[in-house]
Amino acid sequence: MSTMRTVKVDGEARYDISIGPGLLGDPVLFGHALRGRHALIVSDTNVAPLYADTLEATLLTARPAMQVARFVMPAGEQEKTLARFCQCLDALAALGATRDATVIALGGGVVGDLAGFAAACWMRGIDVVQVPTTLLAMVDSSVGGKTAVDLPAGKNLVGAFHPPRAVAADTATLRTLPPRELRAGLAEVVKYGAIFDAEFLTWLEARTQALLAGDDATLAEAIARSCEYKADIVARDPYEHGERALLNFGHTFGHAIEAEQGYAGAGSEALNHGEAVSVGMVLAARLSAALGRSPAADTQRLQALLQKLGLPTVVPAGLEPEALLARMRLDKKADATGLRFVLWDRAGLAKVVSGVADEKVLDVLRV
Ligand code: NAD
Ligand code: ZN
Repeated sequence: MSTMRTVKVDGEARYDISIGPGLLGDPVLFGHALRGRHALIVSDTNVAPLYADTLEATLLTARPAMQVARFVMPAGEQEKTLARFCQCLDALAALGATRDATVIALGGGVVGDLAGFAAACWMRGIDVVQVPTTLLAMVDSSVGGKTAVDLPAGKNLVGAFHPPRAVAADTATLRTLPPRELRAGLAEVVKYGAIFDAEFLTWLEARTQALLAGDDATLAEAIARSCEYKADIVARDPYEHGERALLNFGHTFGHAIEAEQGYAGAGSEALNHGEAVSVGMVLAARLSAALGRSPAADTQRLQALLQKLGLPTVVPAGLEPEALLARMRLDKKADATGLRFVLWDRAGLAKVVSGVADEKVLDVLRV
């Protein structure tokens, strides 16, 4: 049954991303990733009941003398707080974790970001192994070393760059993922094609049914290709001084939508992160076309693919263009010269563009 793939991140920080079904039960994989005597599994109330026992058994098979504890937090973006982060550090203290301890992040991007930040801070930095269980975390948040928690003033305002020691994406865990969360992850998969590779968009266009049906092989291929794009850019620009910013395609608009809606979590009427990025990518494509940079046909192509994947492509009713624009000015992606966007010259070729006029942005938001 071994259909494991490995993507290597090969920059300043080197680590392997392992992708395949059943990795949670692979003691060899985790044996390689663990050092020391202490491991803290960080998870949430949805994921821990499903997968923490299997993971813990695997860790103890790999390292019978290991002391393993758990920190299980309530699920949801609203829990990605400094208060939960402190509780996670308290759990490391209670475990008696030393400098060679390992934090294991078992969950989606919320758990991965918070656990990664706790690992970055505990005794000035210990290992974190990312075990992503959402598609979004597998293709995006578990790779690249960005960790953070939110403040009332905004998302991801406190954090650190802290690359993982290893990433283990067990694709079998996607079978329990709510369909809406799967679709949200597919938005980030589409993003890689939009930024880097029109051929990948063609590949996705031909496989929307298989992806939505959760077909293992198709998803594994999509995850591996996404991780290759991300690994490549992260290796060249680990601290986002330059081209890594391209990964924010759709995110300036997307974050503004999320912020206006009050960071709604799963199950809510409001858009989740992936859905907001889906709308944001279409807006970025429309803005590119409005500025005369890209063909309108490419916007339509992107919109059609996202729609086939069951993703939203228009700004939700009730969000005011002016309010969204004000949010974008507060975003980390704005700078002194005005609004900065990741736009595209065509499908598969994204560019960072500074000094975009407010009126152009409002025009796109008003349609
Ligand atoms: P999430 O972690 O909230 O997970 C979504 C929901 O799915 C949660 O309710 C969770 O409990 C549940 N869940 C997770 N895995 C499951 C499974 N296998 N079966 C059943 N339920 C499961 O959200 P997410 O979309 O994974 O991540 C979003 C977060 O990621 C945001 O906070 C965002 O800022 C962050 N992010 C970080 C980076 C980065 O580079 N660090 C990149 C992108 C996104
Ligand atoms: Zn994103």
